[in-house]
Amino acid sequence: MRLCLALLTLLIATPALAQPADLVLRGGNIITVDHDWHVAQAVAVRGGRFVAIGDDAVVARYVGPNTQVVELAGKTVVPGLIDSHLHQLFAALNGPAVQLLGAKTVADVQKAIGERVARTEPGKWVIASSGWHESILEEGRMPTRFELDAVSPNNPVFIPRGGHVITVNSKALELAGITRDTPNPDGGVIVRDDKGEATGVLLENAAYLVRKILPPPPANMAELLKIAMRDLNSYGIVGVIEPGVNEQQMALYRAVHDAGEMTVRTDVLYRALKKSEVEKGIAAIKAQRNDDMLRFVGIKFLLDGGVEGGRMNWPYRIVPGEQPDANYRGVLLLPPGGEDEYVEGLKLIADAGLQAQTHAVGDETIDVIVRSYGRVNAEKPIRPLRWTIMHLFHPSDAALKKMAEIGIMATMQDHPVLLGHNQRRWWGDEHAAYAIPIREAIDAGILVGGGTDGPVVPVDPYLSMWWMTTRQVLKGYALGKEHAITPQEALTLYTINNARVMGVEHERGSIEIGKLADLAVLSQDILAVPPDAIRDTRALLTVVGGKVVYRNGL
Ligand SMILES: [Zn+2]
Repeated sequence: MRLCLALLTLLIATPALAQPADLVLRGGNIITVDHDWHVAQAVAVRGGRFVAIGDDAVVARYVGPNTQVVELAGKTVVPGLIDSHLHQLFAALNGPAVQLLGAKTVADVQKAIGERVARTEPGKWVIASSGWHESILEEGRMPTRFELDAVSPNNPVFIPRGGHVITVNSKALELAGITRDTPNPDGGVIVRDDKGEATGVLLENAAYLVRKILPPPPANMAELLKIAMRDLNSYGIVGVIEPGVNEQQMALYRAVHDAGEMTVRTDVLYRALKKSEVEKGIAAIKAQRNDDMLRFVGIKFLLDGGVEGGRMNWPYRIVPGEQPDANYRGVLLLPPGGEDEYVEGLKLIADAGLQAQTHAVGDETIDVIVRSYGRVNAEKPIRPLRWTIMHLFHPSDAALKKMAEIGIMATMQDHPVLLGHNQRRWWGDEHAAYAIPIREAIDAGILVGGGTDGPVVPVDPYLSMWWMTTRQVLKGYALGKEHAITPQEALTLYTINNARVMGVEHERGSIEIGKLADLAVLSQDILAVPPDAIRDTRALLTVVGGKVVYRNGL
């Protein structure tokens, strides 16, 4: 019987003899993530797609004189990794900004800022990368305006941390017109010290008071975006969802794509809140054309804050010097017409056949979204549209149940690796430990995609899978061990499940004949090493559509 099968394989393979592959990888441990999780030794790629997968002997027939052959020497191969929530443009912008991820104390931050000030013209902005977190500092808090003034009395300093919190110096506060008498804007907090003076730390919409006066993005954004994509390739990443851009940024993607420079397949979401913005976004998307490298797929909403602003059904803790309000429950950021306007926008998206994705951290926000998606679902099933809730820190059991029932997907990331420290300070240990309960979401029957929210947390997918499987945070403890998932589940989230979130599971997300040839060769077998070692994984080779886009050490 085995012989017959082998003969059959040969017969099927024979016609391909005339057409050698462009690329063959052989002698490896190839985890296909197909339906049965087959493990193969070799793959052949032609015209950007997999044409053969199997034993070395089978794939050998595809090697012609011009075939590029990669000897894997037993190395592990996985489908190219996809991050379903990664701000590629922010990563690009962060490239030339002051890097703070290596800082260990406020003094280190001061030093890094001071060095940049020294080579910046007086009066010009000094801007830091958003890809860091104050929990890595010994002091465990954001630097204040006074500490920044000490190294930058004349240059305005802007230090974002993730997408929701910033700290600035006195010069920046002055340019933004923020004084001790400025009231908190709607949906935002100007953090003040016990004398009532702004400390420089601005949460949520208060950050916008400074953001809106920042200089425009650098003229070489296209170049920076290309560099950011190459950097992602170096982790084995082949695809991302870009969660929330405007028309200008859509045009930037279009330009980089049309110049043939995309090396990360990108699904772009347009950012909107009001119904009028949704209408603009749908029109902008409809004016685009999509292909395998670049797709404009839907609308992103942001309905609450992050760890310091997610809208909860319960009060936050008082955090001395940062959060003085015993009744504070975070911010809910609905459009002016409230939940009804949000639903009207959603209906337009459903009618256009597009995807809706909504950012939610707090349980109250998640309930609002589930209810609103449900209202649309009552008229038009949303399951085929792959509507998604992003982050899902604090879903109630009822919300998880309802999500599974009507087919709402979730994209969940490893924020706690950096943000866990603040989850504990702002929410208390119990709420901190529950946050981002991937185990519960999967067990409830929800389709979950994985990612990082990079550069809010590092874009490294192996750090993310390490957290998913151990719930360890960089501070050196585990938060909510009982919510850990298995390495095989983590790889599923990063491959086929993200393809399902994008609605491209027939084209991507696994190594199968006919699918786009995206893969990554890894330094170790992430399914075989102890989960605690997963974070040490590196990519050695990355292939997108049959083209080697990264190679180092193989
Ligand atoms: Zn994000």
